[in-house]
Amino acid sequence: MNEIYDITIIGAGPTGLFAGYYAGFRGLKTKLIDSQPDLGGQITALYPDKYIYDVAGFPKILGRELVRNLVEQCMQYNPTVVLGEQVQRLEKVEERLFRLTTDRTTHLSRAVLITAGIGAFTPKTFKRPEIDQYQGRGLFFAVHNREEFKGKRLLIIGGGDSALDWALNLVEVAREITLIHRRDGFRAHEDSVRRLFSSPITVKLFYELKAIRGEDRAEEAVIFHNKTGQEEVLQVDAILAFLGLQSNLGPIKEWGLHLEEESILVNTKMETNIPGVYAAGDIVTYPGKVKLIVTGFGEAATAVNNLTRYLNPEASVFPGHSSSIVEKQHKESQPARADGS
Ligand SMILES: Cc1cc2nc3c(=O)[nH]c(=O)nc-3n(C[C@H](O)[C@H](O)[C@H](O)COP(=O)(O)OP(=O)(O)OC[C@H]3O[C@@H](n4cnc5c(N)ncnc54)[C@H](O)[C@@H]3O)c2cc1C
Repeated sequence: MNEIYDITIIGAGPTGLFAGYYAGFRGLKTKLIDSQPDLGGQITALYPDKYIYDVAGFPKILGRELVRNLVEQCMQYNPTVVLGEQVQRLEKVEERLFRLTTDRTTHLSRAVLITAGIGAFTPKTFKRPEIDQYQGRGLFFAVHNREEFKGKRLLIIGGGDSALDWALNLVEVAREITLIHRRDGFRAHEDSVRRLFSSPITVKLFYELKAIRGEDRAEEAVIFHNKTGQEEVLQVDAILAFLGLQSNLGPIKEWGLHLEEESILVNTKMETNIPGVYAAGDIVTYPGKVKLIVTGFGEAATAVNNLTRYLNPEASVFPGHSSSIVEKQHKESQPARADGS
């Protein structure tokens, strides 16, 4: 029997997890589905060991800790969690009933919230087999365990947030770090660029990777100056290349949603063009949209509160304050006493 949920959240990154909490808080029967094997979206997949500095209330928090807290907050209301399933089709079966088809099964829901981030994402590789063949043998496109690089000589490639964040993070544990970037402009947070140049990291601008040498694993990196052609050979234990992410909305493009480039257009209630289908987080766009964890949190709350009203027109969009609601829920769950108190 395919149970009908009030809300099904597609994507369990930070936005989906916070939406999961909020949906439970609003008393909705909730399901979360994610194609990844673990909760936490980009944070878990790409930077669990990186510090995040711009989440309100946390001057500094490790990615994995933020995810642990979000999961704990979300699980208070026991939502159903389905991992390792990619939602491939979204269809309206009847008024206020949607069928989601995944690569394994189908799910039924009265409303849907899409928090699918940048869709299915994978780090870009060099697309040069003679270099990419070292992947996992000294060449990495993501960091899953920072301890792996303790005491190592590292070459970091890239000029975006991932390259700089990781260089600044690993400088605490690595023996030495060289960072090369093919231009002199960075696509990273200004504060990270300032910290990079006042750190012990050797920064080489206008340099690119030419080749990797080594028997079983990467031992040497041949780099070259892209203006003069001058080559240098670096002795390395690991090469970390942050060349950007290849993202693909994949099946979501076929669901009849209004898109702008790779993002879903929403209004101020986080409604898409399909009544009953809402979206929030990195996947959405509207004038002034900023793709950050904190904006996703705010949008999740807006989406779930408006979706609650869609499901029950008697409900108010504003939920009240969490302290009074949680106290009321707590009182209602206590057995009644004989004296009626
Ligand atoms: C290296 C790096 C550093 C960053 N640092 C910061 C930072 O310091 N501060 C900050 O605010 N932001 C930072 N960001 C951005 C931040 O990670 C994103 O803004 C945030 O993860 C967006 O959350 P989300 O839940 O909207 O999407 P995501 O985290 O992308 O999660 C979406 C989830 O949806 C799932 N999904 C997608 N399609 C489907 C489907 N069809 N079916 C089922 N599941 C699906 C995906 O598997 C994924 O788990 C950083 C990003 C990177 C890459």
